[in-house]
Amino acid sequence: MTPTDTRAASPALQVLSDVFGYGAFRGQQAAIVEHVIDGGDALVLMPTGGGKSLCYQVPAIVRQRQGKGITVVVSPLIALMHDQVGALEEVGVHAAFLNSTLDLAAAQAVEREVIAGRLTMLYVAPERLMTPRLQGMLASLHERGQLGLFAIDEAHCVSQWGHDFREDYLQLSVLHEQFPDVPRIALTATADDHTRADIVERLRLEDARLFISSFDRPNIRYTLVEKDKPRDQLLRFIRDEHEGEAGIVYCGSRKKVEETAAWLVSQDVAALPYHAGLDADVRRRHQDRFLREDGLVMVATIAFGMGIDKPDVRFVAHLDLPKNIEGYYQETGRAGRDGAPADAWMAYGLADVVNQRRMIDESPAAEEFKRVQRGKLDALLALAETHDCRRVRLLSYFGEQYREPSFDDTPPAAGPPQGGRGPLGGQGEPAGPTVGARCGNCDNCLNPPQVWDATEAARKLLSCIYRFQQHGQQKFGARSFGAGQLIDVLRGKVTDKVTQYGHDTLSTFGIGAELSESQWRAVLRQLVALGLVVAEGEFNTLAMTDEARAVLKGEVTLMLKTPTEAPAGRRGRVTR
Ligand code: ADP
Ligand code: ZN
Repeated sequence: MTPTDTRAASPALQVLSDVFGYGAFRGQQAAIVEHVIDGGDALVLMPTGGGKSLCYQVPAIVRQRQGKGITVVVSPLIALMHDQVGALEEVGVHAAFLNSTLDLAAAQAVEREVIAGRLTMLYVAPERLMTPRLQGMLASLHERGQLGLFAIDEAHCVSQWGHDFREDYLQLSVLHEQFPDVPRIALTATADDHTRADIVERLRLEDARLFISSFDRPNIRYTLVEKDKPRDQLLRFIRDEHEGEAGIVYCGSRKKVEETAAWLVSQDVAALPYHAGLDADVRRRHQDRFLREDGLVMVATIAFGMGIDKPDVRFVAHLDLPKNIEGYYQETGRAGRDGAPADAWMAYGLADVVNQRRMIDESPAAEEFKRVQRGKLDALLALAETHDCRRVRLLSYFGEQYREPSFDDTPPAAGPPQGGRGPLGGQGEPAGPTVGARCGNCDNCLNPPQVWDATEAARKLLSCIYRFQQHGQQKFGARSFGAGQLIDVLRGKVTDKVTQYGHDTLSTFGIGAELSESQWRAVLRQLVALGLVVAEGEFNTLAMTDEARAVLKGEVTLMLKTPTEAPAGRRGRVTR
Protein backbone atom coordinates (compact mmCIF):
# COMPACT_ATOMS: atom_id res chain seq x y z
CA MET A 1 0.00 0.00 0.00
CA THR A 2 1.38 3.35 -0.95
CA PRO A 3 -0.99 5.96 0.39
CA THR A 4 1.09 8.81 -0.95
CA ASP A 5 0.50 7.73 -4.56
CA THR A 6 -3.23 7.96 -4.20
CA ARG A 7 -3.38 10.81 -1.76
CA ALA A 8 -4.83 13.36 -4.15
CA ALA A 9 -7.78 11.15 -4.95
CA SER A 10 -8.07 9.43 -1.59
CA PRO A 11 -11.68 9.17 -0.42
CA ALA A 12 -10.39 9.35 3.15
CA LEU A 13 -8.79 12.72 2.58
CA GLN A 14 -11.93 13.92 0.90
CA VAL A 15 -14.03 12.95 3.89
CA LEU A 16 -11.51 14.57 6.21
CA SER A 17 -11.83 17.88 4.46
CA ASP A 18 -15.49 17.81 3.29
CA VAL A 19 -17.00 16.45 6.48
CA PHE A 20 -14.59 17.50 9.22
CA GLY A 21 -13.01 20.53 7.62
CA TYR A 22 -9.41 19.48 8.25
CA GLY A 23 -6.71 19.78 5.64
CA ALA A 24 -4.42 16.92 6.60
CA PHE A 25 -4.18 13.83 8.72
CA ARG A 26 -1.98 13.95 11.78
CA GLY A 27 0.84 11.57 12.54
CA GLN A 28 -0.24 8.02 11.84
CA GLN A 29 -3.90 8.78 11.18
CA ALA A 30 -3.52 8.48 7.41
CA ALA A 31 -1.91 5.05 7.57
CA ILE A 32 -4.45 3.81 10.11
CA VAL A 33 -7.43 5.08 8.16
CA GLU A 34 -6.24 3.53 4.88
CA HIS A 35 -5.53 0.22 6.58
CA VAL A 36 -8.99 0.05 8.13
CA ILE A 37 -10.80 1.19 4.99
CA ASP A 38 -9.06 -1.66 3.19
CA GLY A 39 -10.56 -4.08 5.70
CA GLY A 40 -7.56 -4.67 7.95
CA ASP A 41 -7.69 -5.03 11.74
CA ALA A 42 -5.78 -2.46 13.77
CA LEU A 43 -4.65 -1.85 17.30
CA VAL A 44 -4.02 1.85 17.81
CA LEU A 45 -2.03 3.27 20.69
CA MET A 46 -2.23 7.00 20.67
CA PRO A 47 -1.98 9.46 23.52
CA THR A 48 -5.00 11.36 24.74
CA GLY A 49 -5.71 14.24 22.40
CA GLY A 50 -3.80 12.52 19.60
CA GLY A 51 -6.88 12.18 17.42
CA LYS A 52 -8.13 8.64 17.85
CA SER A 53 -11.77 9.36 16.98
CA LEU A 54 -11.03 10.24 13.36
CA CYS A 55 -9.22 6.92 12.99
CA TYR A 56 -12.58 5.14 12.98
CA GLN A 57 -14.96 7.96 12.05
CA VAL A 58 -13.37 8.54 8.66
CA PRO A 59 -13.31 4.83 7.75
CA ALA A 60 -16.90 4.54 8.97
CA ILE A 61 -18.04 7.22 6.54
CA VAL A 62 -15.97 5.92 3.65
CA ARG A 63 -17.12 2.33 4.14
CA GLN A 64 -20.75 3.41 4.42
CA ARG A 65 -20.36 5.34 1.16
CA GLN A 66 -18.85 2.23 -0.41
CA GLY A 67 -22.02 0.35 0.49
CA LYS A 68 -20.37 -1.73 3.22
CA GLY A 69 -22.74 -0.69 5.97
CA ILE A 70 -22.71 0.58 9.50
CA THR A 71 -19.85 1.04 11.96
CA VAL A 72 -20.48 -0.08 15.53
CA VAL A 73 -18.44 1.80 18.13
CA VAL A 74 -18.06 0.21 21.56
CA SER A 75 -17.39 2.79 24.24
CA PRO A 76 -17.62 2.62 28.03
CA LEU A 77 -18.13 6.33 28.40
CA ILE A 78 -21.69 7.50 28.17
CA ALA A 79 -20.79 11.20 28.24
CA LEU A 80 -18.38 10.70 25.38
CA MET A 81 -21.02 8.92 23.30
CA HIS A 82 -23.37 11.86 23.67
CA ASP A 83 -20.68 14.35 22.70
CA GLN A 84 -19.50 12.41 19.70
CA VAL A 85 -22.95 11.66 18.34
CA GLY A 86 -23.88 15.32 18.76
CA ALA A 87 -20.74 16.46 16.95
CA LEU A 88 -21.26 13.97 14.11
CA GLU A 89 -24.87 14.97 13.58
CA GLU A 90 -23.72 18.57 13.46
CA VAL A 91 -21.45 17.87 10.50
CA GLY A 92 -24.17 15.88 8.79
CA VAL A 93 -23.16 12.32 9.67
CA HIS A 94 -26.10 10.23 10.81
CA ALA A 95 -25.11 8.63 14.12
CA ALA A 96 -26.86 7.42 17.27
CA PHE A 97 -26.17 5.65 20.53
CA LEU A 98 -27.74 2.88 22.54
CA ASN A 99 -27.15 2.98 26.27
CA SER A 100 -28.94 2.96 29.59
CA THR A 101 -29.91 6.63 29.31
CA LEU A 102 -32.47 5.93 26.55
CA ASP A 103 -36.03 4.94 27.37
CA LEU A 104 -37.64 2.09 25.51
CA ALA A 105 -39.27 4.23 22.82
CA ALA A 106 -36.07 6.11 22.08
CA ALA A 107 -34.07 2.87 21.91
CA GLN A 108 -36.61 1.37 19.54
CA ALA A 109 -36.40 4.42 17.30
CA VAL A 110 -32.62 3.95 17.09
CA GLU A 111 -33.06 0.26 16.33
CA ARG A 112 -35.38 1.06 13.44
CA GLU A 113 -32.75 3.37 11.96
CA VAL A 114 -30.15 0.63 12.30
CA ILE A 115 -32.31 -1.99 10.62
CA ALA A 116 -33.24 0.38 7.82
CA GLY A 117 -29.53 0.90 7.13
CA ARG A 118 -29.77 4.63 7.59
CA LEU A 119 -27.10 5.05 10.24
CA THR A 120 -23.42 5.54 9.54
CA MET A 121 -22.33 4.99 13.13
CA LEU A 122 -23.89 3.36 16.16
CA TYR A 123 -22.30 3.88 19.57
CA VAL A 124 -23.05 1.20 22.14
CA ALA A 125 -22.06 0.42 25.70
CA PRO A 126 -20.32 -2.96 25.96
CA GLU A 127 -23.03 -4.56 28.09
CA ARG A 128 -25.61 -3.53 25.52
CA LEU A 129 -23.70 -5.08 22.68
CA MET A 130 -23.97 -8.51 24.24
CA THR A 131 -27.73 -8.55 24.59
CA PRO A 132 -29.46 -11.16 22.39
CA ARG A 133 -31.51 -8.37 20.89
CA LEU A 134 -28.55 -6.41 19.57
CA GLN A 135 -26.66 -9.56 18.62
CA GLY A 136 -29.68 -10.56 16.53
CA MET A 137 -29.71 -7.20 14.80
CA LEU A 138 -26.01 -7.39 14.05
CA ALA A 139 -26.38 -10.90 12.65
CA SER A 140 -29.13 -9.74 10.32
CA LEU A 141 -27.07 -6.74 9.17
CA HIS A 142 -24.12 -9.05 8.64
CA GLU A 143 -26.18 -11.40 6.49
CA ARG A 144 -27.03 -8.51 4.25
CA GLY A 145 -23.40 -7.37 4.09
CA GLN A 146 -24.27 -4.24 6.02
CA LEU A 147 -21.95 -4.58 8.98
CA GLY A 148 -18.99 -2.43 7.99
CA LEU A 149 -16.64 -2.04 10.95
CA PHE A 150 -16.24 -2.49 14.68
CA ALA A 151 -14.39 0.17 16.67
CA ILE A 152 -13.48 -0.69 20.26
CA ASP A 153 -12.61 2.45 22.16
CA GLU A 154 -10.71 2.45 25.47
CA ALA A 155 -9.52 -1.05 24.61
CA HIS A 156 -7.37 -1.28 27.74
CA CYS A 157 -10.61 -1.85 29.68
CA VAL A 158 -10.35 -5.48 28.57
CA SER A 159 -7.21 -6.02 30.61
CA GLN A 160 -7.15 -6.92 34.25
CA TRP A 161 -3.65 -5.50 34.42
CA GLY A 162 -4.91 -2.13 33.28
CA HIS A 163 -6.49 0.34 35.63
CA ASP A 164 -10.02 0.46 34.24
CA PHE A 165 -10.91 -3.18 33.89
CA ARG A 166 -14.50 -3.77 32.78
CA GLU A 167 -15.98 -7.22 32.96
CA ASP A 168 -18.16 -6.58 29.90
CA TYR A 169 -15.15 -5.99 27.72
CA LEU A 170 -14.12 -9.62 28.06
CA GLN A 171 -17.17 -10.57 25.99
CA LEU A 172 -15.97 -8.55 23.03
CA SER A 173 -13.98 -11.47 21.66
CA VAL A 174 -17.29 -12.81 20.33
CA LEU A 175 -17.25 -10.06 17.72
CA HIS A 176 -14.38 -11.82 16.04
CA GLU A 177 -15.93 -15.24 16.52
CA GLN A 178 -19.36 -14.25 15.15
CA PHE A 179 -18.24 -11.87 12.42
CA PRO A 180 -14.69 -12.87 11.45
CA ASP A 181 -14.77 -10.96 8.18
CA VAL A 182 -15.78 -7.61 9.70
CA PRO A 183 -12.68 -5.47 10.34
CA ARG A 184 -12.01 -4.26 13.84
CA ILE A 185 -10.08 -1.31 15.15
CA ALA A 186 -9.23 -1.19 18.86
CA LEU A 187 -7.94 2.04 20.36
CA THR A 188 -6.39 3.08 23.63
CA ALA A 189 -4.27 5.84 25.09
CA THR A 190 -2.74 3.64 27.70
CA ALA A 191 -1.07 0.28 27.49
CA ASP A 192 2.33 -0.95 28.53
CA ASP A 193 3.71 -4.18 27.03
CA HIS A 194 1.82 -6.34 29.42
CA THR A 195 -1.56 -4.68 28.88
CA ARG A 196 -0.98 -4.55 25.15
CA ALA A 197 -0.36 -8.29 24.96
CA ASP A 198 -3.49 -8.80 27.00
CA ILE A 199 -5.59 -6.68 24.64
CA VAL A 200 -4.31 -8.64 21.65
CA GLU A 201 -5.09 -11.95 23.29
CA ARG A 202 -8.47 -11.13 24.75
CA LEU A 203 -9.82 -9.29 21.74
CA ARG A 204 -8.32 -11.86 19.37
CA LEU A 205 -6.30 -9.23 17.54
CA GLU A 206 -3.40 -11.52 16.67
CA ASP A 207 -3.53 -10.50 13.04
CA ALA A 208 -4.09 -6.82 13.67
CA ARG A 209 -1.55 -4.27 12.62
CA LEU A 210 -0.15 -2.28 15.48
CA PHE A 211 0.09 1.48 15.24
CA ILE A 212 1.97 3.19 18.04
CA SER A 213 2.11 6.94 18.03
CA SER A 214 4.61 8.83 20.03
CA PHE A 215 3.33 9.18 23.56
CA ASP A 216 5.42 12.20 24.25
CA ARG A 217 3.62 15.27 25.53
CA PRO A 218 6.37 17.83 25.05
CA ASN A 219 4.42 20.70 26.62
CA ILE A 220 4.01 18.91 29.95
CA ARG A 221 6.73 19.56 32.50
CA TYR A 222 7.24 16.71 34.97
CA THR A 223 8.25 17.52 38.52
CA LEU A 224 8.38 15.03 41.39
CA VAL A 225 9.29 16.43 44.78
CA GLU A 226 9.90 14.83 48.13
CA LYS A 227 7.06 15.31 50.55
CA ASP A 228 7.71 17.85 53.23
CA LYS A 229 4.45 19.36 54.47
CA PRO A 230 2.75 18.45 51.20
CA ARG A 231 -0.20 20.82 51.55
CA ASP A 232 2.12 23.78 51.89
CA GLN A 233 4.15 22.51 48.98
CA LEU A 234 0.99 22.25 46.90
CA LEU A 235 -0.18 25.71 47.84
CA ARG A 236 3.20 27.20 47.03
CA PHE A 237 3.20 25.38 43.69
CA ILE A 238 -0.28 26.68 42.83
CA ARG A 239 0.45 30.23 43.96
CA ASP A 240 3.86 30.48 42.35
CA GLU A 241 3.04 28.82 39.07
CA HIS A 242 -0.69 28.60 38.50
CA GLU A 243 -2.50 31.36 40.30
CA GLY A 244 -6.05 31.55 38.96
CA GLU A 245 -5.58 28.68 36.51
CA ALA A 246 -7.50 25.44 36.10
CA GLY A 247 -5.96 22.30 37.52
CA ILE A 248 -6.64 18.88 39.00
CA VAL A 249 -5.27 17.67 42.34
CA TYR A 250 -5.43 13.91 42.77
CA CYS A 251 -5.61 12.39 46.25
CA GLY A 252 -5.64 8.76 47.29
CA SER A 253 -8.79 8.82 49.44
CA ARG A 254 -12.16 10.52 49.61
CA LYS A 255 -11.40 11.90 53.03
CA LYS A 256 -8.23 13.51 51.81
CA VAL A 257 -10.07 14.95 48.81
CA GLU A 258 -12.56 16.67 51.11
CA GLU A 259 -9.91 17.92 53.50
CA THR A 260 -7.62 19.21 50.79
CA ALA A 261 -10.41 20.97 48.91
CA ALA A 262 -11.66 22.65 52.08
CA TRP A 263 -8.17 23.69 53.01
CA LEU A 264 -7.44 25.17 49.58
CA VAL A 265 -10.68 27.13 49.77
CA SER A 266 -9.60 28.46 53.17
CA GLN A 267 -6.43 29.63 51.46
CA ASP A 268 -8.41 31.47 48.77
CA VAL A 269 -7.90 28.91 46.04
CA ALA A 270 -11.15 28.21 44.17
CA ALA A 271 -11.32 24.45 44.68
CA LEU A 272 -14.07 21.82 44.45
CA PRO A 273 -14.09 18.22 45.68
CA TYR A 274 -14.97 15.23 43.47
CA HIS A 275 -15.16 11.57 44.43
CA ALA A 276 -17.49 8.65 43.98
CA GLY A 277 -18.95 9.09 47.47
CA LEU A 278 -20.57 12.42 46.62
CA ASP A 279 -24.15 12.65 45.41
CA ALA A 280 -24.53 12.19 41.68
CA ASP A 281 -25.83 15.71 41.20
CA VAL A 282 -23.10 17.28 43.32
CA ARG A 283 -20.60 15.46 41.14
CA ARG A 284 -22.31 16.60 37.98
CA ARG A 285 -22.49 20.17 39.21
CA HIS A 286 -18.80 20.25 40.15
CA GLN A 287 -17.79 18.69 36.88
CA ASP A 288 -19.87 21.17 34.88
CA ARG A 289 -18.42 24.10 36.77
CA PHE A 290 -14.90 22.81 36.25
CA LEU A 291 -15.53 22.50 32.51
CA ARG A 292 -17.31 25.80 32.05
CA GLU A 293 -15.71 28.22 34.50
CA ASP A 294 -12.17 29.49 34.33
CA GLY A 295 -9.52 28.80 36.88
CA LEU A 296 -11.15 26.18 39.11
CA VAL A 297 -9.10 23.53 40.87
CA MET A 298 -10.72 20.12 41.07
CA VAL A 299 -9.53 18.05 44.02
CA ALA A 300 -10.43 14.49 43.19
CA THR A 301 -9.89 10.77 43.43
CA ILE A 302 -9.22 8.93 40.19
CA ALA A 303 -13.01 8.70 39.83
CA PHE A 304 -12.61 12.03 38.09
CA GLY A 305 -11.18 12.41 34.66
CA MET A 306 -11.98 9.66 32.20
CA GLY A 307 -13.56 11.30 29.21
CA ILE A 308 -13.09 14.82 30.58
CA ASP A 309 -11.94 16.90 27.66
CA LYS A 310 -10.97 20.31 28.97
CA PRO A 311 -8.21 21.76 26.83
CA ASP A 312 -6.81 24.36 29.22
CA VAL A 313 -6.07 22.34 32.36
CA ARG A 314 -2.76 23.95 33.31
CA PHE A 315 -1.62 21.48 35.94
CA VAL A 316 -2.25 18.04 37.36
CA ALA A 317 -0.90 17.53 40.87
CA HIS A 318 -0.63 14.28 42.83
CA LEU A 319 -0.60 14.37 46.60
CA ASP A 320 -0.46 10.58 46.75
CA LEU A 321 1.41 8.08 44.68
CA PRO A 322 -0.67 6.66 41.82
CA LYS A 323 -0.76 2.88 41.47
CA ASN A 324 1.47 2.64 38.46
CA ILE A 325 2.99 4.55 35.57
CA GLU A 326 0.03 3.93 33.27
CA GLY A 327 -2.28 5.60 35.76
CA TYR A 328 0.18 8.41 36.34
CA TYR A 329 0.57 9.03 32.64
CA GLN A 330 -3.13 9.00 31.94
CA GLU A 331 -3.89 11.30 34.86
CA THR A 332 -1.12 13.77 34.05
CA GLY A 333 -2.12 13.57 30.37
CA ARG A 334 -5.22 15.59 31.23
CA ALA A 335 -3.03 18.66 31.53
CA GLY A 336 -2.24 20.86 28.56
CA ARG A 337 -4.33 19.28 25.83
CA ASP A 338 -4.30 22.62 24.06
CA GLY A 339 -0.55 22.27 23.59
CA ALA A 340 0.34 25.25 25.81
CA PRO A 341 2.81 24.72 28.69
CA ALA A 342 1.40 22.68 31.57
CA ASP A 343 2.72 21.03 34.73
CA ALA A 344 2.57 17.50 36.09
CA TRP A 345 3.59 17.86 39.71
CA MET A 346 3.76 15.19 42.39
CA ALA A 347 4.80 15.08 46.02
CA TYR A 348 5.70 11.65 47.34
CA GLY A 349 7.29 10.25 50.45
CA LEU A 350 8.25 7.21 52.42
CA ALA A 351 4.71 6.56 53.64
CA ASP A 352 3.43 6.40 50.05
CA VAL A 353 5.94 3.75 49.20
CA VAL A 354 5.22 1.75 52.35
CA ASN A 355 1.46 2.00 51.88
CA GLN A 356 1.46 0.96 48.25
CA ARG A 357 3.67 -2.02 48.98
CA ARG A 358 1.45 -3.05 51.83
CA MET A 359 -1.74 -2.70 49.83
CA ILE A 360 -0.36 -5.15 47.31
CA ASP A 361 1.01 -7.55 49.93
CA GLU A 362 -2.19 -7.63 51.92
CA SER A 363 -4.62 -7.83 49.02
CA PRO A 364 -6.39 -11.16 48.57
CA ALA A 365 -5.35 -11.34 44.91
CA ALA A 366 -3.49 -14.25 43.35
CA GLU A 367 0.28 -14.32 43.73
CA GLU A 368 0.81 -13.88 39.97
CA PHE A 369 -1.34 -10.75 40.00
CA LYS A 370 0.57 -9.34 42.97
CA ARG A 371 3.85 -10.02 41.23
CA VAL A 372 2.75 -7.92 38.26
CA GLN A 373 1.49 -5.15 40.55
CA ARG A 374 4.81 -5.10 42.41
CA GLY A 375 6.69 -4.84 39.16
CA LYS A 376 4.53 -1.90 38.13
CA LEU A 377 5.03 -0.18 41.46
CA ASP A 378 8.78 -0.68 41.18
CA ALA A 379 8.78 1.04 37.82
CA LEU A 380 6.88 3.98 39.26
CA LEU A 381 9.25 4.24 42.19
CA ALA A 382 12.20 4.13 39.85
CA LEU A 383 10.64 7.06 38.01
CA ALA A 384 10.21 8.94 41.27
CA GLU A 385 13.76 8.29 42.40
CA THR A 386 15.59 8.72 39.14
CA HIS A 387 18.11 11.49 38.70
CA ASP A 388 17.90 11.22 34.93
CA CYS A 389 15.36 12.73 32.58
CA ARG A 390 11.80 11.83 33.66
CA ARG A 391 10.48 11.94 30.11
CA VAL A 392 13.08 9.48 28.87
CA ARG A 393 12.03 7.12 31.67
CA LEU A 394 8.34 7.53 31.07
CA LEU A 395 8.54 6.96 27.37
CA SER A 396 10.84 4.00 27.70
CA TYR A 397 8.28 2.44 30.01
CA PHE A 398 5.86 2.54 27.10
CA GLY A 399 8.48 1.03 24.83
CA GLU A 400 9.41 4.28 23.16
CA GLN A 401 12.84 5.78 22.77
CA TYR A 402 12.89 9.49 23.39
CA ARG A 403 14.41 11.43 20.54
CA GLU A 404 15.42 14.99 21.06
CA PRO A 405 13.36 16.97 18.59
CA SER A 406 15.12 18.56 15.70
CA PHE A 407 14.07 22.12 15.19
CA ASP A 408 12.32 21.62 11.91
CA ASP A 409 10.03 18.97 13.40
CA THR A 410 6.51 20.23 13.24
CA PRO A 411 4.53 19.43 16.33
CA PRO A 412 2.78 17.12 16.93
CA ALA A 413 5.59 14.84 15.86
CA ALA A 414 4.75 11.78 13.83
CA GLY A 415 5.09 8.54 15.73
CA PRO A 416 8.35 6.66 15.86
CA PRO A 417 8.75 4.00 13.21
CA GLN A 418 7.32 1.25 15.37
CA GLY A 419 4.04 0.59 13.60
CA GLY A 420 3.31 -2.27 11.32
CA ARG A 421 5.21 -5.11 12.86
CA GLY A 422 2.26 -7.13 14.06
CA PRO A 423 0.62 -6.63 17.40
CA LEU A 424 3.59 -7.66 19.46
CA GLY A 425 6.17 -6.11 17.21
CA GLY A 426 8.96 -4.25 18.85
CA GLN A 427 8.39 -5.77 22.25
CA GLY A 428 11.39 -8.01 22.16
CA GLU A 429 13.73 -5.15 21.59
CA PRO A 430 15.30 -3.52 24.56
CA ALA A 431 13.86 -0.08 24.82
CA GLY A 432 16.01 1.05 27.68
CA PRO A 433 16.32 4.73 28.40
CA THR A 434 18.12 6.53 25.63
CA VAL A 435 21.52 7.09 27.18
CA GLY A 436 22.12 10.69 28.02
CA ALA A 437 19.03 12.01 26.23
CA ARG A 438 17.47 14.98 27.95
CA CYS A 439 14.13 16.59 27.29
CA GLY A 440 14.91 19.97 28.81
CA ASN A 441 11.42 20.16 30.28
CA CYS A 442 11.44 18.11 33.47
CA ASP A 443 12.77 18.92 36.93
CA ASN A 444 15.86 16.77 36.52
CA CYS A 445 16.76 18.32 33.18
CA LEU A 446 16.11 21.87 34.33
CA ASN A 447 17.90 21.51 37.67
CA PRO A 448 20.21 18.54 37.33
CA PRO A 449 20.31 17.10 40.84
CA GLN A 450 23.53 16.50 42.68
CA VAL A 451 24.02 12.84 43.32
CA TRP A 452 26.02 11.27 46.08
CA ASP A 453 27.22 7.77 46.75
CA ALA A 454 24.89 6.50 49.45
CA THR A 455 26.28 2.97 49.60
CA GLU A 456 28.06 3.48 52.89
CA ALA A 457 25.05 5.24 54.39
CA ALA A 458 22.81 2.40 53.30
CA ARG A 459 25.10 -0.09 55.02
CA LYS A 460 24.99 1.93 58.21
CA LEU A 461 21.24 2.09 58.07
CA LEU A 462 20.88 -1.61 57.43
CA SER A 463 23.22 -2.54 60.25
CA CYS A 464 21.27 -0.27 62.54
CA ILE A 465 18.07 -2.10 61.65
CA TYR A 466 19.90 -5.32 62.35
CA ARG A 467 21.03 -4.14 65.77
CA PHE A 468 17.51 -2.96 66.52
CA GLN A 469 16.18 -6.38 65.77
CA GLN A 470 18.72 -8.15 67.96
CA HIS A 471 18.44 -5.67 70.78
CA GLY A 472 14.66 -5.62 70.56
CA GLN A 473 14.41 -9.38 70.72
CA GLN A 474 16.67 -9.61 73.73
CA LYS A 475 15.10 -6.89 75.76
CA PHE A 476 11.67 -5.98 74.57
CA GLY A 477 10.18 -8.99 72.86
CA ALA A 478 8.03 -7.89 70.01
CA ARG A 479 8.38 -4.15 70.69
CA SER A 480 9.46 -2.45 67.55
CA PHE A 481 10.51 0.88 66.16
CA GLY A 482 9.87 2.85 63.03
CA ALA A 483 11.72 5.31 60.86
CA GLY A 484 11.85 8.19 63.36
CA GLN A 485 13.61 6.22 66.08
CA LEU A 486 15.98 4.65 63.58
CA ILE A 487 17.08 8.01 62.25
CA ASP A 488 17.45 9.49 65.74
CA VAL A 489 19.73 6.62 66.69
CA LEU A 490 21.79 6.91 63.51
CA ARG A 491 22.24 10.61 64.09
CA GLY A 492 23.07 10.10 67.76
CA LYS A 493 20.16 12.14 68.98
CA VAL A 494 19.37 11.61 72.65
CA THR A 495 15.60 11.60 73.08
CA ASP A 496 13.46 10.17 75.84
CA LYS A 497 12.49 7.28 73.67
CA VAL A 498 16.12 6.59 72.75
CA THR A 499 17.27 6.42 76.37
CA GLN A 500 14.15 4.63 77.52
CA TYR A 501 14.94 1.70 75.26
CA GLY A 502 18.67 1.88 75.74
CA HIS A 503 19.25 2.59 72.10
CA ASP A 504 22.06 4.98 73.00
CA THR A 505 24.08 1.94 74.01
CA LEU A 506 23.87 0.34 70.57
CA SER A 507 27.07 0.16 68.56
CA THR A 508 25.29 1.96 65.76
CA PHE A 509 24.29 4.94 67.91
CA GLY A 510 25.58 8.11 66.29
CA ILE A 511 27.35 6.42 63.38
CA GLY A 512 25.45 8.59 60.90
CA ALA A 513 25.76 12.07 62.38
CA GLU A 514 27.16 13.37 59.10
CA LEU A 515 23.79 13.17 57.34
CA SER A 516 20.71 15.27 57.88
CA GLU A 517 17.39 13.79 58.82
CA SER A 518 16.04 14.35 55.33
CA GLN A 519 19.06 12.65 53.80
CA TRP A 520 18.44 9.64 56.01
CA ARG A 521 14.81 9.62 54.99
CA ALA A 522 15.89 9.60 51.37
CA VAL A 523 18.22 6.67 51.98
CA LEU A 524 15.50 4.77 53.79
CA ARG A 525 12.90 5.55 51.14
CA GLN A 526 15.24 4.34 48.45
CA LEU A 527 15.89 1.12 50.35
CA VAL A 528 12.15 0.56 50.74
CA ALA A 529 11.61 1.45 47.09
CA LEU A 530 14.21 -1.13 46.13
CA GLY A 531 12.54 -3.73 48.32
CA LEU A 532 15.60 -4.06 50.59
CA VAL A 533 13.76 -2.86 53.65
CA VAL A 534 10.13 -3.56 54.43
CA ALA A 535 7.89 -1.89 56.97
CA GLU A 536 5.72 -4.49 58.66
CA GLY A 537 2.76 -4.57 60.95
CA GLU A 538 0.77 -1.94 62.72
CA PHE A 539 3.83 -0.02 63.87
CA ASN A 540 5.69 -0.03 60.56
CA THR A 541 8.47 -2.09 62.05
CA LEU A 542 11.45 -1.93 59.75
CA ALA A 543 12.99 -5.17 58.67
CA MET A 544 15.62 -6.21 56.17
CA THR A 545 14.91 -8.53 53.29
CA ASP A 546 17.32 -11.14 51.99
CA GLU A 547 18.20 -8.88 49.08
CA ALA A 548 19.68 -6.37 51.50
CA ARG A 549 22.67 -8.67 52.02
CA ALA A 550 24.24 -7.56 48.76
CA VAL A 551 24.25 -3.98 49.99
CA LEU A 552 25.57 -4.94 53.41
CA LYS A 553 28.38 -6.81 51.72
CA GLY A 554 29.14 -3.79 49.58
CA GLU A 555 28.25 -5.52 46.31
CA VAL A 556 25.78 -2.86 45.24
CA THR A 557 26.35 0.84 44.68
CA LEU A 558 23.55 3.15 45.60
CA MET A 559 23.52 6.61 44.04
CA LEU A 560 21.01 9.06 45.47
CA LYS A 561 19.79 12.51 44.73
CA THR A 562 20.90 15.18 47.14
CA PRO A 563 17.74 16.62 48.62
CA THR A 564 17.26 20.16 47.42
CA GLU A 565 15.12 22.80 48.98
CA ALA A 566 12.27 23.85 46.74
CA PRO A 567 13.32 27.01 44.95
CA ALA A 568 11.25 29.98 46.04
CA GLY A 569 9.32 32.10 43.59
CA ARG A 570 8.25 31.53 40.03
CA ARG A 571 10.51 29.41 37.93
CA GLY A 572 11.27 30.68 34.49
CA ARG A 573 9.70 28.72 31.71
CA VAL A 574 12.17 27.34 29.28
CA THR A 575 10.90 27.62 25.77
CA ARG A 576 12.60 26.39 22.73
P1 ADP B 1 -8.32 11.34 21.44
O1 ADP B 1 -9.61 10.58 21.29
O2 ADP B 1 -7.14 10.61 20.89
O3 ADP B 1 -8.09 11.84 22.83
P2 ADP B 1 -9.64 13.22 19.74
O4 ADP B 1 -10.07 12.26 18.71
O5 ADP B 1 -10.66 13.70 20.72
O6 ADP B 1 -8.41 12.64 20.54
O7 ADP B 1 -8.94 14.44 19.03
C1 ADP B 1 -8.40 15.51 19.76
C2 ADP B 1 -8.61 16.81 19.02
O8 ADP B 1 -7.78 16.87 17.87
C3 ADP B 1 -10.03 16.98 18.54
O9 ADP B 1 -10.41 18.31 18.79
C4 ADP B 1 -9.94 16.70 17.06
O10 ADP B 1 -10.92 17.37 16.32
C5 ADP B 1 -8.55 17.20 16.73
N1 ADP B 1 -7.98 16.53 15.54
C6 ADP B 1 -7.80 15.20 15.40
N2 ADP B 1 -7.24 14.92 14.21
C7 ADP B 1 -7.06 16.09 13.58
C8 ADP B 1 -6.52 16.47 12.28
N3 ADP B 1 -6.05 15.56 11.42
N4 ADP B 1 -6.49 17.77 11.99
C9 ADP B 1 -6.96 18.70 12.86
N5 ADP B 1 -7.48 18.41 14.07
C10 ADP B 1 -7.54 17.13 14.43
ZN1 ZN C 1 13.88 15.71 31.05
